[in-house]
Amino acid sequence: MPDTPSSSLPAAAGTVLHRGTPEYDLSHAQYFNKEDTARFPAEIHVVRTSADVSRALARATELKVPVGVRAGGHLPSKPSLIQDGILVDVSQLNHEVAYDGRTHEVCFGPGVRVFEAWKATDALGRFFPFGHAPDVALGGFCLAGGQGFFMRGWGATVTEWIVRLEIVMADGRALTASRTENQDLFWAARGAGQAFFGVVTRFWSKTVPKRRLFGRTFVFRVGDRFEDLIAFALERNNATPKRFTESAMCTMHSEIFDSQSGDESVPQSSPLLLCINASAYADTLAEAKTMLSAWDQVPGDLQSNVLEANPVAEVSWEEFFQDQHRWNPQTPDQKWVINSILNDPSVPLPKMLEAIKPALCNLPTRSSYGCLYMCDTVAPDENDAVFSIPQQYYISTFGGWKSPSLRPQVQDTLRESYKRADSVACGIYIADFDQSIDSLHSPEIKVWTDSARDRWMEIRKKWDPQGLFPGYKAFAAGVKQKGSL
Ligand SMILES: Cc1cc2nc3c(=O)[nH]c(=O)nc-3n(C[C@H](O)[C@H](O)[C@H](O)COP(=O)(O)OP(=O)(O)OC[C@H]3O[C@@H](n4cnc5c(N)ncnc54)[C@H](O)[C@@H]3O)c2cc1C
Repeated sequence: MPDTPSSSLPAAAGTVLHRGTPEYDLSHAQYFNKEDTARFPAEIHVVRTSADVSRALARATELKVPVGVRAGGHLPSKPSLIQDGILVDVSQLNHEVAYDGRTHEVCFGPGVRVFEAWKATDALGRFFPFGHAPDVALGGFCLAGGQGFFMRGWGATVTEWIVRLEIVMADGRALTASRTENQDLFWAARGAGQAFFGVVTRFWSKTVPKRRLFGRTFVFRVGDRFEDLIAFALERNNATPKRFTESAMCTMHSEIFDSQSGDESVPQSSPLLLCINASAYADTLAEAKTMLSAWDQVPGDLQSNVLEANPVAEVSWEEFFQDQHRWNPQTPDQKWVINSILNDPSVPLPKMLEAIKPALCNLPTRSSYGCLYMCDTVAPDENDAVFSIPQQYYISTFGGWKSPSLRPQVQDTLRESYKRADSVACGIYIADFDQSIDSLHSPEIKVWTDSARDRWMEIRKKWDPQGLFPGYKAFAAGVKQKGSL
């Protein structure tokens, strides 16, 4: 659809929602974080086709207002909600997963959710590395980079798997970008996350034949052995072959799933627990057992902390996703804030463990949890994509609460914890960068290397000279300040 003026576009397939209508209010609330947000776009364009997207961007240009884009709405800070701007809701856009049996590539729209991607590829006997939370949409996941399944063996989803993008640019043109077409755009999109300066309408990904998911889990009482337990898990992960395996840890209190009591505080007597989940993607149980054999022995001096040690077993994807739902409940009053770091791989382990301890141990409420995902991607190729800072370990705290009165406590706890964690960080995953005045991290924290950022800003200027997409502002050198939103 190159160079098509918006007046000659095909009839709208999508819908435009206006302020003051129930449909608008319902759509305004469609976020993972159920906290009310007092930023109200002038219009919400629920788009279904690329032509709808061009029309939405033309409308923003006509009104001289900025554009926010929402796929699955999982960024707790909701940067897509821009006061008096246009919100382009891409959740229904090209909402399918199509498969080309000749190239073995799948093509999907940005609103396709992780569980839908699994279902569609599973039925085809294929697989590509989607994320871990079933409701996250592939639009936000892929643009951020994608810490997809088994990332440690093959890097981020967007650098290793995504081969082509279809993008509607600020001027309304639909273009394709790949390693051979509009290369600068392809480079700049992959890892741009909330900063991106176009609307991605389709992604193409490579796939591989599907295998079976296996896992083994441990639950430890942390007590005074935090450093020893984490060091044990990191060491076992290092001893595990990289291809088709992954390891993740979560800290939590046993009351995490107790949503009935109404009491959100963590009982003083409640011990902190550490859950370790090691997974393998294999054809047989025997193969999975070999792949995960580094986890066979728990050191003798940690045995007394073991509460559960489950052997390798096959896990159905439904089971896996159901479990994720329990950790991330989507009840109408569940609010969330997320803070995280990517550790600097050159920092010695004892120093890192000391610094990340509060982030993983100080959980302000029952529904809060800490997470350490072992990405093992220490040298992303900056020449290939803007996704450029090391992702060895993704260390995060998900702060959850229901009662509005708990917000300051949750925020203060995470802010304090991350003062320590930031001292060993090389940056933050762009998905967790918070542009709002309430952000819990420094506005200076890096999401890309400085050289990648400078190159990216030049490319952005070329494609969106009027700044229709304002998400980049929080990342520009020298002008960073709190409260870009
Ligand atoms: C519970 C939970 C679990 C998670 N698990 C993982 C995980 O396993 N791996 C991982 O990598 N990440 C994970 N994340 C982070 C997640 O990938 C990011 O928050 C992602 O950006 C969410 O995408 P979304 O489309 O659902 O959210 P949205 O808030 O809709 O999108 C995020 C931003 O992406 C941009 N965007 C989205 N779609 C488009 C588009 N089509 N065109 C242009 N810009 C667009 C917009 O700027 C938007 O503000 C998790 C997050 C949560 C809350």
